[in-house]
Amino acid sequence: MPEEPAAPAQPLGPEQPALARLLADPGVDSAELVAAAWELCYLDAVAAREIGRALIERGGTAAADGWFHVALGEVRFGDAVIAADAVRRARQCYREAGNARGVALCDEIRAIELRRAGDLAGSAALQATLDAQQGADRDPMHAFIAHNSRAITCKHLGQSDGALEHFYAASDAALRLGWAGPRITAWCNLGGYHQTLFNLDDARRLSEEALAAARHAGARQAVGVSAKNLIIVYYAAGEFAQARAMAEFMLSHPDELLPGELQRSALQLAMGHLAVGEIDAAMSRLEGGAIKELGQSDGQTQWTWLTARCLLARDEPQAARRIAETTLAARQHNGLGDEPYDLMQLYSVLADACEAGGDAAAALRHMRGMHAVYEKLVGRSARARFIAIQVSHHLAEVQRERDLALDSRRSAEDDRMRLVQLNRALQSQIAETEMLHAKLREQALRDPLTGLHNRRYLFEIGPGMIELARRQNGQLCVVLMDLDHFKLLNDTYGHQAGDQVLQRFSGLLTQILRRSDVVCRHGGEEFVAVMPDIDGDGAQQVINRLLESFHDLQLEIGRRRLPRGAFSAGIAQFPRHGNTLEQLLMRADRGLYAAKNHGRARVEMAPRTGFGTLT
Ligand code: GH3
Ligand code: MG
Ligand code: MG
Repeated sequence: MPEEPAAPAQPLGPEQPALARLLADPGVDSAELVAAAWELCYLDAVAAREIGRALIERGGTAAADGWFHVALGEVRFGDAVIAADAVRRARQCYREAGNARGVALCDEIRAIELRRAGDLAGSAALQATLDAQQGADRDPMHAFIAHNSRAITCKHLGQSDGALEHFYAASDAALRLGWAGPRITAWCNLGGYHQTLFNLDDARRLSEEALAAARHAGARQAVGVSAKNLIIVYYAAGEFAQARAMAEFMLSHPDELLPGELQRSALQLAMGHLAVGEIDAAMSRLEGGAIKELGQSDGQTQWTWLTARCLLARDEPQAARRIAETTLAARQHNGLGDEPYDLMQLYSVLADACEAGGDAAAALRHMRGMHAVYEKLVGRSARARFIAIQVSHHLAEVQRERDLALDSRRSAEDDRMRLVQLNRALQSQIAETEMLHAKLREQALRDPLTGLHNRRYLFEIGPGMIELARRQNGQLCVVLMDLDHFKLLNDTYGHQAGDQVLQRFSGLLTQILRRSDVVCRHGGEEFVAVMPDIDGDGAQQVINRLLESFHDLQLEIGRRRLPRGAFSAGIAQFPRHGNTLEQLLMRADRGLYAAKNHGRARVEMAPRTGFGTLT
């Protein structure tokens, strides 16, 4: 919502039923109210202030924002004393809560206070201090408030470049913020200021955008301000029908404007009538007490040239000249700060009135005055246009940079996704390779004919099993088995029959021994079992059972029945017969040797002593 012209505070009325409901509903929590106040403060200052009051009543931590919104509403459109008190309380609350942003925002209100009290230098100095402290650290809302306020201070100081730059920065912050209120305020203020600077193209574009956005958002004050700005822009650009149409829009849509707006817009409405030669209508608006509301300086020049134009149109050049000269003298005397455009129009109508009254010399003088102002205006207009172009270039550049950053972020994201996919592919490849490796390893550790582990595996796992038994003080037996008369079997029934017997015997081994026993083909028709947690007798029983089962096995090749299978076995016991796999195997081999010697098909415990004693 533009800061100027000031609008009287509006009481909460039926126009704001949604807000009234929001405030009356105790179910709406304070955080929601705080959010609503921030979003509304530049769209509907009265509503934001009312929410602020409700927050103060509720108390708690949200009261700080409550005081702030009361202060912001009052300092912009209301009572300076109430504003000063509210900002003091807001600052205290923010400070107690350690909210540095809140304190900085209170400083911004203080700068607005100074400006409104006429202390432009003080306001600018405070703003410069604040910029030095936290210029870069502002979030978009904070940046918007700061730039908008600096722009208005610059404008009052006649620093048009600074004003434009801050208005554009405020607009940028508003766009980043994404809320309608600040955006409309920024466009409205920028449009108005370009119009002041006589840069009619940008003024028209921005004011039209502001009007459309304000109507869409129902921002009634901004609708009025941008419509009034547009009447002036159209008139100044010589687009008289458009000026009249905009006046008509205001007249026919009072519901879209603040109450009393039409009375306050008398000069612009008169301009709309004057534009198309509706002199009586223009006059009646100008005579309708408008100037009383405008005060001595505000709008005085504008009222005068409009009235003088009407008088001239009514063929009253003397009357026109009189009021124009009076205002010009007063203006020069009192240093009235009206818009240069209005001053130019004043000179212009004065020159025309003098000419119509036959005073060519005076006409020429005023013409020269008009020209001087015109040149100044055109210079400012060109400068404003230049700044506008610069800003739009800069904005385009920023946009491009943002797009590039976005693109690079997007491509970084693409890269990341690709990497994830590659990683996934790699992972599955690794898993595949690992599986292959495991398979190869497994193959290297297994005997392809019987599927049992091989000797290599035995030497990989055996020592660990023995170490475990040693640590746990446990039992462990190593059994060496050798099929009896296997050569004969091969010779009689063929190698294939031998293979089959090896396979069947292996099957029996895995069936009868425990899963925790490690069974392997030691080579040829020799097998080894490492049996943990079992003593010599137990192992002997198991191996005897195996021997019986092997004996009972029906073996045949083709239709030929094979002779019953048998094996001899030797058992070595840890730690009785040795502490290492090699020692135990050697002692089991002694047992096996004994078994063969004792007639085969039997199981023998390893002898207590070495090989020598056996013989
Ligand atoms: P003993 O009762 O004294 O052990 O007599 P044996 O005939 O079993 O012992 P020997 O060491 O004389 O013969 C082992 C035979 O086992 C010799 C070899 O041909 C056979 N053999 C070794 N590996 C395989 C194999 O993978 N398949 C077949 N079919 N025979 C094998
Ligand atoms: Mg053998
Ligand atoms: Mg043998």
